[in-house]
Amino acid sequence: MTTSTSAAVAQALAGADAVTILCHVRPDADTIGSGLALGLALQRRGVDVEVAFPGGIELPQAMRALPGYTLLVDEADLVGHPVVVSVDAASRGRLESLQPTFTAATRTIAIDHHASNDGFADLDLIDATADCTAVLVLAVLDELGVTIDLDIATCLYAGLVTDTGSFKWARPESFRIAARLLDTGVDARTWSRILLDTHPFAWLPMVGSVLTAAQLVPGAFDGAGLVYAVVDNDLLAGMSWEESESVVDIVRTAAEAEVAAVFKETAPGAWSVSLRSKSSIDLVPIAGVHGGGGHRQASGYSDEGTAAEVIARFLKSA
Ligand code: MN
Repeated sequence: MTTSTSAAVAQALAGADAVTILCHVRPDADTIGSGLALGLALQRRGVDVEVAFPGGIELPQAMRALPGYTLLVDEADLVGHPVVVSVDAASRGRLESLQPTFTAATRTIAIDHHASNDGFADLDLIDATADCTAVLVLAVLDELGVTIDLDIATCLYAGLVTDTGSFKWARPESFRIAARLLDTGVDARTWSRILLDTHPFAWLPMVGSVLTAAQLVPGAFDGAGLVYAVVDNDLLAGMSWEESESVVDIVRTAAEAEVAAVFKETAPGAWSVSLRSKSSIDLVPIAGVHGGGGHRQASGYSDEGTAAEVIARFLKSA
């Protein structure tokens, strides 16, 4: 794969009258923030813009507060413009039901930072050294000469603060970018609370049950250790799917385990598995065994079956 530059992507976008921006399935704040920031910037240049994510699910409450939210269209209402940009999707498969919209375009662009991304567009701006896709979108907007106003900065900051775990693993460049975004007036305190520190009350007993049943497998990964927990469909009853997303951040704190896994039942019998490692273990090939991908220290995959079946399959690769 030959990676394109932000200048090449900017050049392709500069000549477009209408652009479709696609976010990945089970959207997070990086894919939505990147999509909305790019959408707002292009709209200000007079471009006809639509932004969508697959799955027909509700967007998490926190992301509905982001500027540019009105650019989002239901997947059934997608026009599918000649230029299509995928943001933060590690593979075409992550676009799920939106893949036909992507492949039907005359010019396809992928902007992403996942190490497992082999490139799947005409222009692939893929940089695994970037902390989030939002900083790659910022590089494209700078090439386009777009003024980064408060709304665009807020969307970019949403991706940056969440994908760096509140800057816990942020690189120096990300702190510089954060300062630049905050200088536009982004309310960092409020957005951190909205995006990272807000759950319904029912989240507390759910997490209590999940953590009580967590398992430690000291011998896994050649003795590096594994801790895992299960969020099944019943435990999530009455809550929206994204309430299971942050559980892994608690589970991974177990000192005895290098690797943490959380098995999340997104629909009866359908599982999304989140993996985290601390330092020594590269999760990309492990997720790859199960058809997934991601980053060295944060990756994931999907599986189907009972909890016992899905866990047993994972333990074979642990
Ligand atoms: Mn990301």
